[in-house]
Amino acid sequence: MSYKKIYLNPGKEESLKRFHPWVFSGAIHHAEGRPEEGEIVEIYDSRKNFLAVGHCQIGSIAVRVLSFKQEEIDGNFWKKRFETAWTLRQDLLNKTNSNIFRLTHGEGDNMPGLITDVYGKTAVMQAHTPGMHLARFELATAMEEVMAGFIENIYYKSEETLPFKAGLEAENGYLYGGRNVSDIAVENGLQFRVDWEKGQKTGFFIDQRDNRSLLEKYAEGRDVLNMFCYTGGFSCYALRGGASKVHSVDSSAKAVHLTNENVALNFPGEMRHQAFAEDAFKYLEKTDASAYDLIVLDPPAFAKHRKVLKNALQGYKKLNAIAIEKIRTGGIIFTFSCSQVVTKEDFRLAVFSAAAQTGRNVKILHQLTQQADHPINIYHPEGEYIKGLILLVE
Ligand code: SAH
Repeated sequence: MSYKKIYLNPGKEESLKRFHPWVFSGAIHHAEGRPEEGEIVEIYDSRKNFLAVGHCQIGSIAVRVLSFKQEEIDGNFWKKRFETAWTLRQDLLNKTNSNIFRLTHGEGDNMPGLITDVYGKTAVMQAHTPGMHLARFELATAMEEVMAGFIENIYYKSEETLPFKAGLEAENGYLYGGRNVSDIAVENGLQFRVDWEKGQKTGFFIDQRDNRSLLEKYAEGRDVLNMFCYTGGFSCYALRGGASKVHSVDSSAKAVHLTNENVALNFPGEMRHQAFAEDAFKYLEKTDASAYDLIVLDPPAFAKHRKVLKNALQGYKKLNAIAIEKIRTGGIIFTFSCSQVVTKEDFRLAVFSAAAQTGRNVKILHQLTQQADHPINIYHPEGEYIKGLILLVE
């Protein structure tokens, strides 16, 4: 198979030589034979030396690299990628009682544009690039071969993640199997009902597994407020950890319903838990000072683009300032940002400004990120998207 070729401007091969997997449109000198949206292309430097092979895309990131070797991107290629990804996860899973995990994490697994989350017998595949969308059937076949006996269904969910301008029809649906398996999956021994068809993202926030475990260790005897609870992940861990009471808050009534369901699934008849469908800021503002001594702040990405970074940082500052001001003396705050454009330093500065505004004594006990089934490709630091701090407020 010969792929169409893209030639870079002189000197623009530097980032590829350092294995960064993106080619920006400004780096391109010309393309041979008009590659189409999502097509596989080869990239060459200005002296016609081969650099990489990847998926091309209309936009500022013009190519996402699949391999730095001159090789064919076919079913066998994908199979090898899935095998490598599955080996890492099997090692991790053997050590935790979980069948909820991320199988492919885009660039972190050398598969830019492909997210796959597994819930028991179901894999939810999500394409973020036209190239991965076009490869979906080949990907599903390769995944099914590698994961045979482990997964029974592959649900494709990309209607909301593909770039709109690509004009691609992406219908959500099963590429393999069907909805004939349980929707209850397990994370660290806790059960969660996961609605991969209608829920947010692929149905569950998988990236907080280790951070939830840490919360469990801090929860004993504490009055916990879980802000932005979604399906109640942190709430269930807090209850298992021996919290005195747990209040869960989310602006979505559906999320509150799912949280209540998950609490009931794990702790039938539990009286320590209550959930409220309310705006987080409003809830915090009206909360009595010292009602809680453990607060989780895990908001949605306040900044999806660099353009709104400043407003996002103001949002993090405001949210953290209210929590720091209101929490009981000796209280613990788990605070997160999942915005990719917000760096670790930006986030820490926003929390610092929040603390300074309150004048309270605040210590950082832990610095958190996503766990190992969301690996960060060392050549692609943008893949580190979760930033978290555990604060002690005196
Ligand atoms: N902590 C969750 C994931 C949070 S995702 C977990 O561990 O699973 C972010 C959540 O914030 C979503 O459920 C969304 O419905 C909710 N949300 C968004 N804006 C909100 C607001 N202003 N107030 C309260 N909740 C909000």
